[in-house]
Amino acid sequence: MELLIKNGFVFDPLNGINGEKMDIAIKDGKIVESIPERKGKKIDATGLTVMPGGVDIHTHIAGAEVNTGRLMRPEDHIKDTERKTALTRSGVGYSIPSTFTTGYRYSRMGYTTIMNPSMPPLEAKHTHEELNDTPMVDKASYPLLGDWWFVLEYLQKGDLEECARYVAWMMNTSKGYAIKIVNPGGLESWGFGRNVHSIDDQVPNFCITPREIICGLAKVNKMLNLPHTIHLHTNNLGLPGNYVTTLDTMRALESVATDGKPVAHITHLQFSSFAGDGWGSMRSGAEEISKYINTHSHMTFDMGQVIFTDTTTMTADGPFEYTLYQLSGHKWVNSDVETETSGGIIPFHYKRNNAVNATQWSIALELALMVDDPWKMFMTTDHPNGGPFTAYPKIIAWLISKKARAATLKRTHKKAQKKSLLPSINRELSLYEIAIVTRAGQAKALGLKNKGHLGVGADADVAIYNVNPEEIDIARKYKTVRRAFRHAAYTVKDGKIVVKDGEVVQHADGRTMWLNVQTAEQVKIDDEIKRKFKEYWTVEYENYPVTDHYLKISDPITIKADV
Ligand SMILES: [Zn+2]
Repeated sequence: MELLIKNGFVFDPLNGINGEKMDIAIKDGKIVESIPERKGKKIDATGLTVMPGGVDIHTHIAGAEVNTGRLMRPEDHIKDTERKTALTRSGVGYSIPSTFTTGYRYSRMGYTTIMNPSMPPLEAKHTHEELNDTPMVDKASYPLLGDWWFVLEYLQKGDLEECARYVAWMMNTSKGYAIKIVNPGGLESWGFGRNVHSIDDQVPNFCITPREIICGLAKVNKMLNLPHTIHLHTNNLGLPGNYVTTLDTMRALESVATDGKPVAHITHLQFSSFAGDGWGSMRSGAEEISKYINTHSHMTFDMGQVIFTDTTTMTADGPFEYTLYQLSGHKWVNSDVETETSGGIIPFHYKRNNAVNATQWSIALELALMVDDPWKMFMTTDHPNGGPFTAYPKIIAWLISKKARAATLKRTHKKAQKKSLLPSINRELSLYEIAIVTRAGQAKALGLKNKGHLGVGADADVAIYNVNPEEIDIARKYKTVRRAFRHAAYTVKDGKIVVKDGEVVQHADGRTMWLNVQTAEQVKIDDEIKRKFKEYWTVEYENYPVTDHYLKISDPITIKADV
């Protein structure tokens, strides 16, 4: 199996390649130095842009909350349907598409790896079954561990090593990839109808604070040598004035960062960067937040861009979804997952002529443009919370073109226009920087060594777009670029051409990556843990672990830790 991609403009930031005209050689699913030209297949990429396959660090595409969202929103199915073809299956859904449709749509945009960020371990089997069903892309999932009773108990006791062993056990048991923390302490409080409001509030019954959970798990993450950092949804998310909590959180994590490497990833930062002391005075906190980020290097982030559209919000942050229900009055779902987490779902329509929504739209772009280093801030919508992932080409247009931003801004609420920092920002990202924020940076932050680049040995995941950087000024011709990123000229997955001219031409299954964390000592699976399962969970211990049987194509990554 050989493939030669000839003469494209290659953007491969992890290898410092910035638009050079060159060939990419592929053999047996991997990038290689060269192949004899006359032998295998060829793609003539003359005049086209070549990048590594897209990597999405945070997108809700599988599991209980996504599926409950599908169930509660029949109107979302009618709006958007996919016809069956000779190769592909039919599907429905605009903001919460069915599994096959999700895979096809990502692949058509040149994406090859996507990370499902929010998995209650109790729902892990279902999550993996849906991931199996999502074709065309490699994928992984982050178990929610910030409010898991075992974590709270051992952190409270100050026993970091035992906490680390439990986290390792849970990674193996749920077949997870990273430690997800959502509104730490707030979800446990929500079980009693309460919440926490700062990183120093007490969590009921556990004598612990969000600060101790965040820093404790960041230390555990380091002790276990996990490839990604902790993946954090901050306290007070979605509330006016919360940028102060976000700054407190980032400062707290300075104490864990001792070797200059990132120790945490704050996800969908837009939702955590509100200033003002009420909805009437709500404004952007992007200036304060980006100033901090520009002078520190212990964290990475993603945008959580808002799109003006009808979407479905879903998060483990049950109390936040309750707030959103009170604001909107829409139908809603809220749930409690015993000993682990909470969850909520509510449909939401972000409107241009709503001052708060328009300010949110502006905040995400302000953050992306005011954070100087693109290796710190990645492109997401927190699909489907800020809007569906299919809007990525729109965001690319806003990032590369001041003109594109101005065209949208002038149609938003007058109050939001006046408050927006965008008119004062001249920065326009280059294609090289777009390659960082949509693949290279995300792969690096995730510790995915074979992804996000086109160096020898990398997975042969490649995206080719119909953009000729020598011929067009991308900032001026942003509509051409937007169109190109919507329908990749080619998507190559593991060396196979799976998309051509925006259409799926070959099926691929994609693998499920997970961490096989091997610790020096192991958690004791004794009568005590089994008794806890009997008392606190709705399942017996024996039925809890996700075995290999639940994974279609299992891709374990072995990690060794000295605890
Ligand atoms: Zn999310």
